[in-house]
Amino acid sequence: MEIIESVKEMQSLATAFRAEGKRIALVPTMGYLHEGHASLMREGRSLGEILVASIFVNPAQFGAGEDFDSYPRDLERDSRLAAEAGVDVIFAPRASDMYPPGYQSWVDVERLTLPLCGGSRPGHFRGVTTVVCKLFNIVMPHTALFGKKDYQQLAVIRRMTADLNMAVEIVGMPIVREADGLAMSSRNAYLTPAERESALCLSRALGEARTLFRGGERDAALLREKIVALITAEPAARIDYVELRDMETLDEVAAANERTLVALAVKIGKTRLIDNCVLGEEN
Ligand code: AMP
Repeated sequence: MEIIESVKEMQSLATAFRAEGKRIALVPTMGYLHEGHASLMREGRSLGEILVASIFVNPAQFGAGEDFDSYPRDLERDSRLAAEAGVDVIFAPRASDMYPPGYQSWVDVERLTLPLCGGSRPGHFRGVTTVVCKLFNIVMPHTALFGKKDYQQLAVIRRMTADLNMAVEIVGMPIVREADGLAMSSRNAYLTPAERESALCLSRALGEARTLFRGGERDAALLREKIVALITAEPAARIDYVELRDMETLDEVAAANERTLVALAVKIGKTRLIDNCVLGEEN
């Protein structure tokens, strides 16, 4: 496995792979890898002859007062995990190489980025779409894999790829959870043991919503109320949003159906966690 920091070097290598007719799969990450990332890498291994994982804590997608500086980083540990998952190349650029002086170009997806995390983190998705577009131009993947854990991000990237005619196949992957249901996230490292326990209210609330839906409940407002009540009962939890929306358009729904996305963002202490499920789907 090779670790490449230079944008130019990565681009030359990708050009050479392409010239040899090799299929490139890309898994973009911010590092501090866990089993969720590894599941994307293992699938990527089967979809491309060359598997590239990018590790880049992208300053452009963090707002003022967010956790850019404290975001966990450990390239040595990440390299071991990536190698085990079959990664051929880690692309770990420096921010100064991605956004050199004079940088002023951005990719903006409009409607889909307004609700949910777009509402609570203004500018976040502009940072995400811009860096993903840049990674596509640098790594030149045929296919790129993203987790449904960041459901809105996946929807926004699918939209960008279609709207801007990017020749990259986007693959969405199921959420990987800890044995007790907590969705895996690099940010879980921030949680104290007590907060780690409190954080289970997210997956429990989603499970409860799904149970009620399976029992015949279709009133979105009522389902939302039940979720809010469950999370509010947890003293360490502060709700950012709880929403029921169409899984494709992300429009709000009054009546829930199999294609309804339940999306949550909750602060546990200082740590903002997200989770979601689609009511008609298993994962
Ligand atoms: P991040 O490093 O948090 O930016 O995540 C990199 C990629 O891994 C994104 O496509 C995420 O959606 C995906 N990912 C993160 N956590 C999980 C998880 N628990 N299950 C599946 N995919 C995940």
